[in-house]
Amino acid sequence: MAKVQEAAFEKAETKRDYYHLIINGERMESSNGSTIDACNPATGEIIAKVAKATKEDAEKAVQAARQAFDNGKWKKTPINKRSRVLNKIAAIMRSRFNELVELEVLNSGKSISAAEGQVMQAIEDFEFYAGALVAHRGSVNNVPGQFHNYTEKEPVGVCAQIIPWNYPMMMAAWKIAPAIAVGCSVIVKPASLTPLTAIVLGEICLEAGVPSGVVNIIPGPGADVGNYLVEHPDVNKVAFTGSTPIGRDLMGKASQTLKRVTLELGGKSPNIVFDDADLEAAIDGSLYGIFYNTGQSCEARSRLYVHEDIYDDFVDKFVEKTKKLKLGNPLDKETHVGAIIDQGQLDVINNYVQSAIADGADILTGGKPAVIEGFEGGYWFEPTVIANVNHDMDVVKEEIFGPVVVIMKFKDEKEAIKLANDTEFGLGSALWTKDGGRATRVANQIEAGIVMVNCPFSAFPGTPFGGYKQSGFGRELCIETLDLYTETKSIISFYGSRPLNPFGI
Ligand code: NAP
Repeated sequence: MAKVQEAAFEKAETKRDYYHLIINGERMESSNGSTIDACNPATGEIIAKVAKATKEDAEKAVQAARQAFDNGKWKKTPINKRSRVLNKIAAIMRSRFNELVELEVLNSGKSISAAEGQVMQAIEDFEFYAGALVAHRGSVNNVPGQFHNYTEKEPVGVCAQIIPWNYPMMMAAWKIAPAIAVGCSVIVKPASLTPLTAIVLGEICLEAGVPSGVVNIIPGPGADVGNYLVEHPDVNKVAFTGSTPIGRDLMGKASQTLKRVTLELGGKSPNIVFDDADLEAAIDGSLYGIFYNTGQSCEARSRLYVHEDIYDDFVDKFVEKTKKLKLGNPLDKETHVGAIIDQGQLDVINNYVQSAIADGADILTGGKPAVIEGFEGGYWFEPTVIANVNHDMDVVKEEIFGPVVVIMKFKDEKEAIKLANDTEFGLGSALWTKDGGRATRVANQIEAGIVMVNCPFSAFPGTPFGGYKQSGFGRELCIETLDLYTETKSIISFYGSRPLNPFGI
C-alpha cells in the first residue's frame, strides 16, 4: 500500500479532485490503485475520484486501529483532554461549515437547507459527546463494612462502523463521536456513493489531535470490505446503519465472533392526523415528514393516516402544497426537494409507484421521474402522493426511500394505532392532535423508538434515536450510546477486618 503523506495532518482543502483512504493517520492509495467515482446526483457528473479500499486495506486499517487501541495512548488520555479534542473537532467543523455543506450537497444531491441542518447536527454531536463523556461513569454498590464494589466503564475496543448514503456526514458523526469519546478506535466504511464528507471528517479528527490509528476511513464495496470488517476477529464491535436485509445478514456474520452489534435499520413510519389537530401545522409537518431529504430518510413518515372526518379537506390541501414543492438546484436555498441518489434508487422508487398503480391505487400528484431544467443528467422524482391503498400493497408495506407517501383514512383512535403498528418496522412515528391525553395514550401504544407529537423533527443530540422491531436495536445520539461502546467491569473488593474463609476449613 502506497503511503502518501507521513506528516501530521494539517488543514487540507475540502473540495478537491482526489480523496485518499485514511489509515493509521496517513492518506493512503488503495493497495491495487483502484478508485471510486464520486458523483453529483443532481447532474450525474463525476466530481472526484476516491481511493477504493480492498480487503488488504481493510486489514491494514484493522491492524492500525488494534494497535492504536492496545497501545492505550487514546483510551488512557484523561477525560478532560479527550473532551477538549472532541470540542476541537467541532470547532474545526464550524470554521469550515460552508465548505462541508457544499461538499455534502455536491456528493448527495440533497438540498442545501437539509445539508446545513445535518452538518450542524454533526458538529453538535461532537460537542454533545465532549460533555457527555465527562458524565459517563461507573457506579458504586457497597456492602457496608465488608465489600467495596464498583464498576468501571472500559472502551469495547476496535469498532467497525458501516454507514449509508442518505446522511453521509451526520451518520459518520453519530458513529465516530461516541466511540472515540470513550476511547475506542474506529474503522469507518462510508457508503460507496457518498464517501467525501466522511473522509474530510477523518482528516479533521487527525488535525484536531486524535492519535494515528484511532480514526480510519476506508470507502470500499460493502459486500467486500464491509463484510471483511464484520468477520474480522480483531474487531470487537460492529455499528451498522443501513437497510434491514443487510443488517440482518451482518448480525449473523458478527455472531461468529460474538461481536457487540448495534443496528440502525430501515423504516416505514406512520404519521397520524386526528380530527382535532391543528390542520395547518399537521399539513406542513406531514409534508416535511415525508419530503425532507427527498424522502430518503430512515424515519420518513411515509404512511399518512388521516381521520375520516377531515380526510378530504386534509388531502386537498396536502396535495396542493405538495405541488408547490420546489425541485431544482440543490445549492439554491429556495429548493425544497433535491435529487435521488442514483439511477438504481430512481428505478426502485419508480417500480414501487408502478406497482401501486397496477394494484389499483390512485396517484394524486407526481408519480414519475422529473426532468429538471439545467439538471437533465441527474436523478429526479416528482413528490408523489398515493391514495386508495391498503395494507396488502408493497407500496404500503415496504420502505421505498424516496419522495412517495401513501395516504389512508381511519375512523377512531383504536384503528389508528392498529394501522400504525401493522408493520415489520418500528423506527419513527408522528401524531397530530390538540388533545394532550390522546397524545400520551397513543404515544404509549405505538411500537416505535421515536414518537413525534405535533412536531416534524426526530433527531436532537441527547435524545435517543433508534428502532423497535425490524428497524434494529441500540440507541444513538444519546448518553446511553456510550454504554454501547463500553464494557462494564465490576470490581468486588473485600475490606472487612477479618479474612474471609467461605468453606470454613
Ligand atoms: P445499505 O445498502 O444497507 O448499505 C449501507 C452500508 O452497508 C453501505 O456502506 C454499504 O456499502 C454497506 N454494505 C452493503 N452490503 C454490505 C455487506 N454485505 N456487508 C457489509 N456492508 C455492506 O443501505 P443504503 O442503501 O446505503 O441506505 C439506506 C438504508 O439505510 C435505508 O434502509 C434506511 O432506512 C437506512 N438508514 C437507517 C437509519 C437509522 O438510523 N435507522 C439512518 C439512515 C439510513 P456500499 O455503499 O459499498 O454498498
